[in-house]
Amino acid sequence: MEHDFRFNTLAVRSGQHRTNEGEQGEPIFTTSSYVFQSAAEAAAVFSGQQPGNIYSRFTNPTVRTFEQRLAALEGGERCVATASGMAAIMSSCMALLNSGDHMVSSRAIFGSITVLFSDHLSRFGIETSYVAPSDLDAWERAIQPDTRLLFVETPSNPMAEIADITALAELAHSHDCLLVVDNCFCTPALQLPLAMGADIVIHSATKYIDGQGRAIGGAVIGGEEHLDKVFGFLRTAGPCMSPFNAWVFLKGLETLRLRMDAHSASALELARWLEQRSQVKRVHYSGLPSHPQHELAKRQQKAFGGVLAFELQGGKEAAWHLIDSIRMISITANLGDTKSTITHPATTTHGRLTPEVRTSAGISDGLVRIAVGLEDISDIKADVETGFRD
Ligand SMILES: *Cc1c(COP(=O)(O)O)cnc(C)c1O
Repeated sequence: MEHDFRFNTLAVRSGQHRTNEGEQGEPIFTTSSYVFQSAAEAAAVFSGQQPGNIYSRFTNPTVRTFEQRLAALEGGERCVATASGMAAIMSSCMALLNSGDHMVSSRAIFGSITVLFSDHLSRFGIETSYVAPSDLDAWERAIQPDTRLLFVETPSNPMAEIADITALAELAHSHDCLLVVDNCFCTPALQLPLAMGADIVIHSATKYIDGQGRAIGGAVIGGEEHLDKVFGFLRTAGPCMSPFNAWVFLKGLETLRLRMDAHSASALELARWLEQRSQVKRVHYSGLPSHPQHELAKRQQKAFGGVLAFELQGGKEAAWHLIDSIRMISITANLGDTKSTITHPATTTHGRLTPEVRTSAGISDGLVRIAVGLEDISDIKADVETGFRD
């Protein structure tokens, strides 16, 4: 039945199971365990002969509603919710890889993911090679006989590089690998990686799915075969989503398309305005015709999202001056909030990288990132304006 509905309807309606109280909203099941009618029923549910809830580390009705709703929006068979975006990535790697396996990853991924791959998974014999996300030849060259997984985030943070999901899926499958896409920046409102051939979609629900900066959570979406393994790992290892957070994210999903369209429209306006400014050397936003993968972004995304970065002529001094002059935009590294945020990547999110690695990733000292919120765009522009030095 749900396949007949369009995105905005699925976002509001799918996954809801009403209790006998006739409630209109989704209830929050704050219970750690579940009661059985009889010893025989307990035995049947524990043995898997009968479906049912046992313990909220495994399943919880509020969490299940969130999982079913997000799976419907991403067009995936199944979703497993996790305690954070990082838990979603860790659970996927632990469930789908073995010691001795190799991964190829975009080098432009969320910083903690690089640390997870390079410092932690490597201790269990899983090695990772890094490539530029938009360089298909580099991806192909990095694949080894023991490569099992390709990992990409598109658009990338903060440089808005775009990876070709369809081409990467073909490359992955021709080498018997899985393609995992971190869809955090676009969300299913703007980009559907599974429909383009990806095997697994990862989310940090902390960002646009919540959309209001309230809770930490994550999700893994994909086919039953892979997701059953992810669920098997999660129920034993324990990085499960709390029912309260699942309820917060459910409410977030209901307005996802509206918010993503508004974030995208304001970010595009800000990007065009910044591009005209003499103090700005370059703007990195896939919605601009000057972006090297603008055509690809137009093909694979419905819009260009809410995050942009720009380089100031005056280097670090001008960047810090701008950040310190603004009155409204929050100085914080988070994104996907109703409130606009501003950050200086070279000294915060990417500050632990060596200067050489930072330079090769294009993150100069004059680079500033703004995650455009839902305030009036004129006020956002006026705030940035106060930070320009002539
Ligand atoms: C924030 C983020 C993550 C990690 O998610 P958490 O919820 O903070 O654990 C993963 N990928 C991307 C692209 C992110 O922005």
